[in-house]
Amino acid sequence: MTESTIRYETPAPGVARIVLARADKHNAINPQMIYDVNEAFNQAVRDESVKVIILGADGRNFSAGHDIAGTVEGYQADTQQNSPGVSSWSDFTEEYTHGWYAAEKETYLESARRWRNLSKPTICTVQGKCIAGALIFAWVCDIIVASKEAVFSDPVVTFGVSGVEWLGHPWELGARKAKEFLFTSDSWSAEEAHRLGMVNHVVERDELDDFALAMAIKIAAKPAFALKLAKEAVNKTLDIQGQANAIDQAFSLHHLCHNQNFRKFGYGMDTNNLPKVANVPKKEA
Ligand code: ZN
Repeated sequence: MTESTIRYETPAPGVARIVLARADKHNAINPQMIYDVNEAFNQAVRDESVKVIILGADGRNFSAGHDIAGTVEGYQADTQQNSPGVSSWSDFTEEYTHGWYAAEKETYLESARRWRNLSKPTICTVQGKCIAGALIFAWVCDIIVASKEAVFSDPVVTFGVSGVEWLGHPWELGARKAKEFLFTSDSWSAEEAHRLGMVNHVVERDELDDFALAMAIKIAAKPAFALKLAKEAVNKTLDIQGQANAIDQAFSLHHLCHNQNFRKFGYGMDTNNLPKVANVPKKEA
């Protein structure tokens, strides 16, 4: 039995907290973490005593994003081995685009959509770095509280991909700032993310958990059904504006980039520009 990548806590009546507990790896997201988080969300949703769910993380950084310290084949095999069937996709170990598309659709796109539509309010607390795939964890939550030193980035254009798998950027930042964020791969501060409307509140690092918990307790005092439908009303508004279709479309373009990189580098990303942690083989020249 593999050790869990998360902790499940109940810090106050009516509040569940899911904590990413892979701090030694900067909470890098692997398939097991996706499924651990998914199961924890399910547990919180099914527990009638839970009204609000907090998603946080141990350590200095919220998360370094998707764990790319391995091969595409390894990721696909992990997905095949760990998947309880979050989406209707399968055959994750098929070769070429078939298996890679299926694995990313399951673990990044469909999982994110499930969490975004959970029937209870969610609050994400972000400290330190929140990079690429980590943005998905934050964005699918209803409210984001960041500590002052938090920084956000999606550097995947540098690695030859059009943006992280869940293209929330235009909705979170506005179209022009979304383009700048993607084109430059720059890291933006919590204050800047707050100014753009992506982050609800910025607080001192040592106040982050207490601030989010106080807000969760305040929300938990409201009628559960009204909370659920308030959330659904806002999410449906975004859906009617086309958010879901736009994100699906962007996911397809993301995979067009993966395919281009497979052909050029033998890996889904530009291997010349990946960070050093990525233990991927360089294609022979
Ligand atoms: Zn991808």
